[in-house]
This record gives sequence, structure tokens and C-alpha cells, in this order.
Amino acid sequence: MLQSAEQIAANLATVRQRIAAACELAGRAADSVTLIAVSKGFGPEAIDAATAAGQRHFGESYLQESLGKIAAHPGADLTWHFIGPMQSNKTRAVAEHFDWAHSVDRLKIAQRLSEQRPAQRPPLNVCIQVNVSGEASKSGCMPAEALALCEAVAAMPNLRLRGLMAVPAPAVGADAARPPFRRLFELYQSVRERVAGIDTLSAGMSGDLEAAIMEGSTMVRIGTAIFGTREYR
Ligand SMILES: *Cc1c(COP(=O)(O)O)cnc(C)c1O
Repeated sequence: MLQSAEQIAANLATVRQRIAAACELAGRAADSVTLIAVSKGFGPEAIDAATAAGQRHFGESYLQESLGKIAAHPGADLTWHFIGPMQSNKTRAVAEHFDWAHSVDRLKIAQRLSEQRPAQRPPLNVCIQVNVSGEASKSGCMPAEALALCEAVAAMPNLRLRGLMAVPAPAVGADAARPPFRRLFELYQSVRERVAGIDTLSAGMSGDLEAAIMEGSTMVRIGTAIFGTREYR
């Protein structure tokens, strides 16, 4: 259910406080974490409420739904992040309309994104999605494949490799949430030692942003805590 603009503004303030508190606990600067508001499942009015409250980064998972929202906000100085599962039939629209792609997990998808990125746009920012929880059903490359994929993407002309992304399996309790984020951070550090230009660890959602920030996340993707519970179609 769509919340009121006032509620969305209040929710955003609460999420920003959670991020600031986690950064303080981790001994990190408050501006070391970027907040992506995940607006999937909600219409342009949800984006309007969030932008009025100062939000500039938005995350979308459902391609068709997202294109209308992007088109409805031309020149609004917003940054659009594609975070949904990426199949070959989605790469062209992602390359044409988004600023970031967080869910690149195989070479073929990266090649298509680079080929299809319009020449007049800056390189598409890319994160390699890693399956840190090791579940067969999840998207993301295996941790052992991440370095080779990062090296390949870093060499592609129309992509700018920024880092790693993961969606760990939900954990019960803050302590149980941290180990997958810690493994992700260790992988991030080892890739960063070998590949230039990496500055982004995209990890943490409404339920686990504190654990992610404690373990070094630089970008959290928050939907429910800002916009409320999604009604799936
Ligand atoms: C939906 C989604 C989110 C946001 O999840 P919430 O629990 O609603 O904060 C973050 N990342 C990805 C990849 C998602 O699909």
C-alpha cells in the first residue's frame, strides 16, 4: 500500500538515522554509505515523495515498470540503479536507461551491456553480483569466479566496474546476519587489490543494513523501510 508523502519522508529520515548510527558504531564516516531507495512495486508518486525529501538514488527490479518511472522524471538529476535479475532480453533497456547495473553475474550479460550502451552516455557503472550464501536458486556468480569476471568487465569500453553486490539469505538476528557480509567484504578487498577503480560494495536491505554497514558496505538498497510493504502482482 502506498504511504503518504509525509510518511515516506519520515521513513527516509529514520533510515538515514539507522545508517548514521551504524556508521558511528563501525567507526566510519556517515557519508561513506550511499542510500538507494528501492522503489520497485510503487508508482511515480512514491518517487516524487522521496525526491521532495532529498532522495536522489533509486533502485528498480522490474524493467517494464521502471521505464515509465524513469521517463516521468526527466532532467530531475536522479541516479537510476537496476538491481533485478538480468537476462539477455533486458540488457538493451538497462544499457539505454540506467546509470548503474548491480546484478551482472556472467560475461555474456556484461558484453551485451557494453555493446548496447549508447555512445552519448557515460560508461554504465557495474557491480558484479556474488552468491555469498551458496544457494543454488540464487543469482550471482560463485565467489571463486568473481575476480576473473571483474577483470573482464574492467576491460570493457562502455562499462565502468565499480565493485561487488550481494543479497545474502535472510538471517535471524543481527549476529547471524554478519558472516555472509564479512565474506563478501573479504572478497571485495582481494578484488580491490588486483583491479583498479573499485570503490563500491552494494549490500544491505531493510532488515540487515546495520550488519552490512558493520562489515563494510558502501551502498545500501532499501525498499520496505522507506515505501512500506510491496503488494506483489
Ligand atoms: C527488493 C530488493 C531490495 C530492497 O529490499 P527491502 O527488504 O524491501 O529493503 C534490495 N535489493 C534487491 C536486489 C532487491 O531486489
